[in-house]
Amino acid sequence: MSGLANQLESYPWHRALWTSLTRDRTGLVHALLLNGQLGLGKSTFATQLSTMLLCENPNQHSHACGSCKSCRLVSAGTHPDLKRVEPVEEGRVITVDQTRALVEFMTMRPHIAQRKVVILTPAESMNINAANSLLKILEEPPLGNIFILVSHQPAKLPATIRSRCSQIEFKLPPRHDGIDWLQTQKVSVADAAVLLGLAGGAPLRALEMDQTGVIGQREQLLVDLEALRAGTADVVACAARWQKIGAEFSLAWLQRLVADMVKIDMIPQPESFLANHDLACRLQVLGEGLDLKQLYGFADAVSQARDLLASPVDNLLLLEDILIRWFRVPRKITLPTE
Ligand SMILES: [Zn+2]
Repeated sequence: MSGLANQLESYPWHRALWTSLTRDRTGLVHALLLNGQLGLGKSTFATQLSTMLLCENPNQHSHACGSCKSCRLVSAGTHPDLKRVEPVEEGRVITVDQTRALVEFMTMRPHIAQRKVVILTPAESMNINAANSLLKILEEPPLGNIFILVSHQPAKLPATIRSRCSQIEFKLPPRHDGIDWLQTQKVSVADAAVLLGLAGGAPLRALEMDQTGVIGQREQLLVDLEALRAGTADVVACAARWQKIGAEFSLAWLQRLVADMVKIDMIPQPESFLANHDLACRLQVLGEGLDLKQLYGFADAVSQARDLLASPVDNLLLLEDILIRWFRVPRKITLPTE
């Protein structure tokens, strides 16, 4: 079995979808739109599906054999009948030149397989010209060829593209399944539950957070926020630490922590609404007594600071400014009772 096939086996939440989609290999529609939130393994699924569609000898469970010439070429990234289209740089658009090249690719006869397959990901990064150039061939693709579009935000796709595809929705696995799977990836039970919550229930996103040490970094941010309010930490030293962790990362998490403090103040039983529900007690203590309106104002300032990160601004000064503002968020004024 190939490494790719093994990878699919490790995502148990794909199994039902895989079985229903691959029951009849010849009956697959010509354009699929795999959609669902980030961190569910849609791209891996798309690669697996294309490998199976090109495989000369798929097994009885409709998995690629992993050893035929086609499978070996896909694994090496050199299959002449498979094209993967994505932005040249992360966060950039898929251009009209890229989609024109793929239209040309699709209109030529297959080299060694029965069909050609295109994976386009993330589809919402096509600009409008790119999407338009794809429309016609998506409507009338050369017989047998298959488009696999992957989208984390399908609502951002033109309706004309969506309507030409069969939509395959990836849902979040049940929480206990996500936790079980994370444990098979050597994540502790306690961390798995926290990470899955922070990742919005998406197991691969949670695993990535584990591998990048998110829990430890978040802890450092919270410790600094607590110490600043207690007057036992220095703004300059904290800002330097936050910059080392990453200005964008730090401000994004600060936003979530502050949002949770606001929720704790406003909602009677806030636990299920909190992004950081494992920190509910500490956040309650930290936010207790702070003026809610001023806390909102601080949250706005953090949001504006995040926007400023895209401009040529001194991140360290920006972080220092935000932390000074945090230190100065006033407490509620309580009138003395007589
Ligand atoms: Zn094969």
